[in-house]
Amino acid sequence: MSLVDVKVPDIGDFDEVAVIEVLVKAGDTIKAEQSLVTVESDKASMEIPSTHAGVVKEMKVKLGDKVKEGTVLLTVEAAGAAAAASASPTPAPAAAAVAPPQPSPGGGASKPVAAPVASTYGGGADLECDMLVLGAGPGGYSAAFRAADLGMKVVLVERYATLGGVCLNVGCIPSKALLHVAAVMDEVSHFEALGISYGKPKVELDKLRAHKAKVVGKLTGGLSAMAKMRKVTVVRGLGQFVDPYHLQVEETSGAALEKTGKKQTIKFRNAIIAAGSQAVQLPFMPKDPRVVDSTGALELAGNPKRMLILGGGIIGLEMGTVYSTLGARLDVVEMLDGLMQGADRDLVRVWQKMNTPRFDNIMLKTKTVGAEATKDGILVKFEGEQAPKEPQLYDLVLQAVGRSPNGKKIGAEKAGVTVSDRGFIPVDIQMRTNVPHIFAIGDIVGQPMLAHKAVHEAHVAAEVAAGENSAFNARVIPSVAYTDPEVAWVGLTEDQAKAQGIAIKKGHFPWTASGRAIANTRDEGFTKLLFDAQTHRILGGGIVGTHAGDMIGEVALAIEMGADEIDIGKTIHPHPTLGESIGMAAEIAHGTCTDVPPVRKS
Ligand code: FAD
Repeated sequence: MSLVDVKVPDIGDFDEVAVIEVLVKAGDTIKAEQSLVTVESDKASMEIPSTHAGVVKEMKVKLGDKVKEGTVLLTVEAAGAAAAASASPTPAPAAAAVAPPQPSPGGGASKPVAAPVASTYGGGADLECDMLVLGAGPGGYSAAFRAADLGMKVVLVERYATLGGVCLNVGCIPSKALLHVAAVMDEVSHFEALGISYGKPKVELDKLRAHKAKVVGKLTGGLSAMAKMRKVTVVRGLGQFVDPYHLQVEETSGAALEKTGKKQTIKFRNAIIAAGSQAVQLPFMPKDPRVVDSTGALELAGNPKRMLILGGGIIGLEMGTVYSTLGARLDVVEMLDGLMQGADRDLVRVWQKMNTPRFDNIMLKTKTVGAEATKDGILVKFEGEQAPKEPQLYDLVLQAVGRSPNGKKIGAEKAGVTVSDRGFIPVDIQMRTNVPHIFAIGDIVGQPMLAHKAVHEAHVAAEVAAGENSAFNARVIPSVAYTDPEVAWVGLTEDQAKAQGIAIKKGHFPWTASGRAIANTRDEGFTKLLFDAQTHRILGGGIVGTHAGDMIGEVALAIEMGADEIDIGKTIHPHPTLGESIGMAAEIAHGTCTDVPPVRKS
């Protein structure tokens, strides 16, 4: 028996990362390579595996701690042969989003591709294809369409009746349809001060739900039409791998996914797994219609007076915005020390100042420890720094504490595809899994779980399967909270630059100097750009204000192109626009902006 410290291994370019999940506790018996904690930077989350097998004696880190290479995570009592350390643990999954670009000379893969695996399934097939895509979310449909455009015979398998996955059906699109309505209602409510009054709004939830359904239907219907145009065969049902070349699909019907009993087997030469993720459900929350995840919240089943949002991330705050505008008072509980983790605090502060009136309680460094369904509501208990003394009663509780990948639900092991303890599928920079002809993309391969990341990964996977020399080597992936005001950021944040000791030069343009923002009566925001103090190249940027999400793409392009402050400042932006604020932030960094007071000479 010996006591061994298990430490954070080399985690690449990150100086410090936050512990967002602790997967073991003192007294647990653990295996070598078993995941111990999940850490998250702004770009990726990864699980840190154990170097040793044995019994956990003491945990040295807790949720929310910041760790770096060498930090001791826990001590383990390692026994006998098990005391031998695993050679060099690798954090998994190394999210493809931040995988460093690797050379892939001559159109080959980014790393030596393993030998093809053998088929073990002896039965026949009902359908054969060049490319099977499992899951029709933004990742899946984009992969299927790109593969078809590249000349492949494609089968797309989806368990629900409509294409588009979480994003189109119960995510990005319906939430934005509702957020738009909420933003207009909020805007109009301020018009009285400008001499225009409409009176108190009358909300008809049935019509609002119908509007949301129409928006979703227009997009999902469009996808079906495009699948037909590309001759992509869509098969409805629940897919499970039976070996590395066959998938069995059990037909499903209705919204509850009843099984009809009809099965078919699809034989494929290549496959792309795009089975996505689902909302994490806290085990102690009661099964009750007043406890919902984001999908339930989007149904707008009623008009709650008091609503609790569990988790202060983007999804919870977006849905909270909608419900609050429709009349709910909000509480939010978050285990970490701030809302909207990942964004610079100065951006979040502007949002928080404007949105504080929506909330009765913002409970940081606090967690929910129990809940009970009562006749009058859901009674919730809290623990932590800002926990109320008494349990609180809510008409609606929204669980928005993260999403877990579906990797363990698709029979991946039968295809020989490696899946991490938490259900992520590790991939290389070309989106290949450990099985050379099977790729994985989207939420199922790692953070950030965003539709635009899934789409780009999808194109790479389809192109690589078609023999093209493609790789996912995006420098940055933008993030947006579509709250009011919107908060958008991309690349290095100021907090990260500080933590990593990178000298930056900042251009901060306050919207109080933007003619358009003032004309819109929305000048609370700002645009900031961060440049490398030595090279002057842009490293990151953040925008808070109306339409911030529509503008952040320009900053992402500037980072991808290696632009400097002169490139951006000298690019003529149209006047008067909010987009102009990006050019002006660059001019401020360069010292040439004439729309703000002169810099005082020392
Ligand atoms: P998914 O969209 O999850 O699609 C996976 C598909 O696979 C699903 O249709 C599922 O039914 C199907 N499937 C799974 N297993 C099987 C099986 N065994 N057989 C058959 N079919 C299967 N992202 C943004 O970028 N911007 C936003 O504004 C945004 N807003 C969001 C708001 C909410 C409320 C939520 C919940 C998410 C939001 N997201 C947003 C995240 C975004 O929806 C996801 O990142 C995106 O949908 C991931 O795409 P995907 O293709 O990987 O998986």
